[in-house]
Amino acid sequence: STPIGARRDVSLASYCTLGVGGDARWLVSASTIEELADALAFAASKRVPAVVIGRGSNVLFADAGFDGVVIVNAIDTIERVGAGYAFNHLGAALSKEGWSGLEFAVGIPGTVGGAVFMNAGADGGDTATALVEVECVSPDGGRQDLDAEADAEEEEESESELAGWIVASATFRLRRDPRANDRAKAFLRRRARAQPLSERSVGCVFRNPPITAVNPDGLSAGALIDRAGLKGTRCGGAVVSEAHANFLL
Ligand SMILES: Cc1cc2nc3c(=O)[nH]c(=O)nc-3n(C[C@H](O)[C@H](O)[C@H](O)COP(=O)(O)OP(=O)(O)OC[C@H]3O[C@@H](n4cnc5c(N)ncnc54)[C@H](O)[C@@H]3O)c2cc1C
Repeated sequence: STPIGARRDVSLASYCTLGVGGDARWLVSASTIEELADALAFAASKRVPAVVIGRGSNVLFADAGFDGVVIVNAIDTIERVGAGYAFNHLGAALSKEGWSGLEFAVGIPGTVGGAVFMNAGADGGDTATALVEVECVSPDGGRQDLDAEADAEEEEESESELAGWIVASATFRLRRDPRANDRAKAFLRRRARAQPLSERSVGCVFRNPPITAVNPDGLSAGALIDRAGLKGTRCGGAVVSEAHANFLL
């Protein structure tokens, strides 16, 4: 079948920096790997050649055009990232570029690998939700790509499977959202107001407990510690932060 968005007899002049060239019999813009595969299969089914172009900044199309399928590579996602990359910088850079999915990461001062391992999260978002695939090195040095979505469904199995594995890179699912940067900035402002960021810590120590009979209002761990009157309590060199009771400094 004809790929979605395939157009017939399209002038190639608009698809190259030289601004010259005849028509492509078909032109397809592929924004996912599946669309790319569909476009190639379409060309094969029509028994015509296929050629892929990027921004056309180093091609010269013939005035006679191209009697086949020109595929414009529009896969412009920024997805796969090395595990040692700073998670907060990743969140900030992506949000600034209008990508949504990791805005919550802006205030988390770890690496991508640490975030995957810990399922780091904040402000209603978490790493697992945006994660698609993890490239791992096994304890015996083998390499494997793990499907994060399939593993989430078989969580218990994946936990034992992952023990001792090192995350080498991660692939995230992102979507375009012009408000991503505003959200990320608001998250940072909230942190700066609520957290003792100039002190040494590991962030919040306790996970927030669920709503139960003993915590019917679903209070956060910090609020519960505060209610218990523990802010400022010292033990050796450690102290419960006055600014945020879930921070041990
Ligand atoms: C000021 C402050 C604010 C914070 N706010 C948040 C927050 O909002 N939300 C949150 O979730 N956390 C928060 N944290 C905690 C911390 O930043 C996160 O847990 C982060 O994901 C840890 O990443 P890391 O790279 O520093 O991991 P590390 O601390 O170096 O390691 C943590 C664990 O992950 C494992 N690990 C690290 N890298 C890999 C890898 N490549 N493959 C496999 N395992 C690995 C380590 O072996 C270890 O068990 C905060 C910390 C600070 C200091």
